[in-house]
Amino acid sequence: MIDTMTQYEPIIGLEIHAELMTNSKMFCSCQVVDSVQAEPNTAVCPVCLGMPGMLPVINRRAVEYAMRVALALNCAVQQHNIFARKNYFYPDLPKAYQLTQYELPIGLRGWLDIELEDGSTKRIRVRRVHMEEDTGKLTHLDRTAVAAEEGTLVDYNRSGVPLLEIVSEPDIHSGEEARAYAMKIRQILRYLGVNAGDLEKGVFRVEPNISIRPIGTTAFGKRTELKNLNSFKSLADGTAFEIARQTEVLNSGGQVVQETRGWHDTKRITFSQRSKEEAEDYRYFPEPDLPPLAISDAWIAAVKAALPELPDAKVQRYQADYGLSAYDARVLTEEKAVAEWFETAVSLSPSSPDPKTIANWIINNLFSLMNEHKQSIDAIRVTPAGLAELLELVERRAINNNTAKEVLAAMFTSGQSAPAIVQAQGLAQVSDEGAITAVIERTLDAHPDNVAAYLGGKERLIGFFVGQVMREMRGKADPAVVNRLLAAALAARK
Ligand SMILES: [Zn+2]
Repeated sequence: MIDTMTQYEPIIGLEIHAELMTNSKMFCSCQVVDSVQAEPNTAVCPVCLGMPGMLPVINRRAVEYAMRVALALNCAVQQHNIFARKNYFYPDLPKAYQLTQYELPIGLRGWLDIELEDGSTKRIRVRRVHMEEDTGKLTHLDRTAVAAEEGTLVDYNRSGVPLLEIVSEPDIHSGEEARAYAMKIRQILRYLGVNAGDLEKGVFRVEPNISIRPIGTTAFGKRTELKNLNSFKSLADGTAFEIARQTEVLNSGGQVVQETRGWHDTKRITFSQRSKEEAEDYRYFPEPDLPPLAISDAWIAAVKAALPELPDAKVQRYQADYGLSAYDARVLTEEKAVAEWFETAVSLSPSSPDPKTIANWIINNLFSLMNEHKQSIDAIRVTPAGLAELLELVERRAINNNTAKEVLAAMFTSGQSAPAIVQAQGLAQVSDEGAITAVIERTLDAHPDNVAAYLGGKERLIGFFVGQVMREMRGKADPAVVNRLLAAALAARK
C-alpha cells in the first residue's frame, strides 16, 4: 500500500507571540499584571479600553525589548517604523482594531540555529519581528460549568500588553524541528529578560502553519494554522498529527481546507475552528494617532552593546575555556540562571576543582536533588560558594567522593555548610594508615578462602576486599590509601 502512495514533504512556518515583561502597557501607563492572578479589569484605562478620543503613546521600553530580540535573532533593525490598525470585530478587542506593525516591522530577515536530536544543527530563517498589542481575554462559560451562568466573560487586563510577533520562514519540516525552534526562541527571550516563557499562562504562544506538498514539487499546498498549543510537547505532537492528517486527506483524493484548527490536549487531535481570514480582510492602514517611530543608529548601538551573552556563545565558550563537552555545555546553558550559578562556582574555585568537575557535580548530583525536591536553581539553599567549599574538601581528601554526595544531599535539605555537616556527622575521611591497616588485617583474617583464591589468581576479588574494608570503616576511608595498603597486605600473605 504505502509505496504506491505519493511521498509528501511537510512545510512549516511558526508564528510566536511573546508578551514583553515591561512595567506598563504598550500604548498607555496601565500596569502589566499577571493575567491569571490579578482581579479581572483592574489594570485598565480609557486607552486600553478603546474609549472614544483616547490617544496612544508608544512605550519606549517595549521598543527597546523588541530591538533586543530583533538583534539577538540576527535581524536587521528597521529605523523607520509604522504602526497600523488591523481591523477586526471581536469582543476581546474593545477598539475593534489592533495596533500592530504591518508593512514596516522593527526586525527583518534574521536567522536562528537550532540543534536537532541527532546532534546536528539547522539554520531557520526569521522573516520578521514586529511589535503589537495583546488583546483582552475571553472566558467562555458553557452550560456544563458549575456556575449557573452561561455566556462569555471579558477581562481587559491583558488588552494593550506589549506583544512581539516573531514569524519564521517556512524552513521547518517536522514537529520535532518546530519544537526545537520554539524552545530556542523561548530560551533566547528568557536570556534577554524580555519574556517569562510560560506557555500555560499564555505569555508565550506558538502557532505553526502547516502544509504538505509532493516531494520534488515547489508550489505550496493549502495550509492550516494550529492554535491552543499550551506546551512544547503539544506543539510537536499537534504538528505531527496535522502532517499525518493532511497526508491522509490527499491520499484519499480529498483537498486540504485552509483553516484554523485547534489542538485537543486530552484527545491529542486537531479539529476545525474557523476558516482562515486573508490579509485583506483586516483592512490595514497606518495608525493616524501615532507618528512614525524613528530609531537612531546610536540607540541600536546602545541596545546591541548591552545584549547579554547568548546561549550559543556560552556553549562555545564553555567548550573552549572549560573543556566541557558540547552536550554538557548545552545542559548548563539551557537556563540562564543555571549558567550563572555554574559560572559563579567556577569563579570561586580559581585553580581547583576544575570547571569540568564542577559541571559534573551540577549535572549528575545537583540536578537530581533539584528534580527530587522539585526546586529550581533560584530556590535551592546550596550556593555556588557552598558547592566550591564541598569540592575543595574532596580535593584535599578530607572526605571521599561518596561521602561528598551524602554531604551535598544534607546541604540541600539543611542549608548547612559542608564543613559543618562533615564535623557534626563525623564524616571526615580516615587516611590514618595504622587504622586502615588494622581493619585490612582483620578483614583478610576473616576471609581466608577468598585470600587463597585471590593469591591463586582470582584478582578481581580485590573489589570484594575493598568493599569489606570500606563498609567496616563506614565509607569514610580514603579509597586510594585502602587500595595501596590492601595490595601490600595481600602480597605479604603470598
Ligand atoms: Zn490602559
